[in-house]
Amino acid sequence: MRPLIAGNWKLHGLARQLGEIGAMASSLSVNPPATDILICLPATLLARAALAVAGRIAVGGQDCCSEIVGAFTGDISAEMLRDAGATAVIVGHSERRQHHQETNALVAAKVVAVWRTGMMAIVCIGETLAQRQAGETLAVCADQLACSTPDDIGTSLLAVAYEPLWAIGSGRTPDQDEIVEVHQRIRQCLVARWGAAAKPVRILYGGSVGSANAHEILMLPEVNGVPVGGESLNVRDFEKICRSVPAGASRIKN
Ligand code: PEP
Repeated sequence: MRPLIAGNWKLHGLARQLGEIGAMASSLSVNPPATDILICLPATLLARAALAVAGRIAVGGQDCCSEIVGAFTGDISAEMLRDAGATAVIVGHSERRQHHQETNALVAAKVVAVWRTGMMAIVCIGETLAQRQAGETLAVCADQLACSTPDDIGTSLLAVAYEPLWAIGSGRTPDQDEIVEVHQRIRQCLVARWGAAAKPVRILYGGSVGSANAHEILMLPEVNGVPVGGESLNVRDFEKICRSVPAGASRIKN
């Protein structure tokens, strides 16, 4: 399985940074690493970023409306994101769940909206520190996964991002064994639900991934890529992360 490195710029990014993205895309096209590369940008930059990268890397959205069209002032539909050049959309990021009270049911509706457009939905799940300390991590993740993804969709356009809330932006990560344990459980849940169709679903680990630890995390079994927040804002660091994909990553694991 080809890994996916997905930058998430969150509430950062102005037009003046588009040149850097274009230059990074050009640089990555020389001796390209064996990975899919995506940057999820503010919607305001998507169309211009798509032109700047010229297909050398992908661009995506960070959220979308669950509705397709209508009287929803201020919302942005999946189709609008695709129209601007996006090929993927993050849905259910913990910051959306926390600051915008997004429920699993709403996230599942957004997943359907993304799939309808033919884009990939990257569905985020993860436990709080209190839940980890209470030994609830696996149950919480399994429940979020089950309730944030509808049954009747194709799996070829689905990725799951395991992002423990306490690891996001904190400089802390779970131990390697803990990451593998959660990813293996996610894989079991996917297979139990969709059988062989679950095979192409990438499971990403996110939370304080940077150029210093990306390589070792990407080496772990059942880790099929990484979402990167803070370190994706510096294009040099992000390129380093993309280039830290282990040679033959897609062969040595699952
Ligand atoms: C994220 O919020 O999706 C993320 C991975 O953030 P960070 O890399 O900054 O921890």
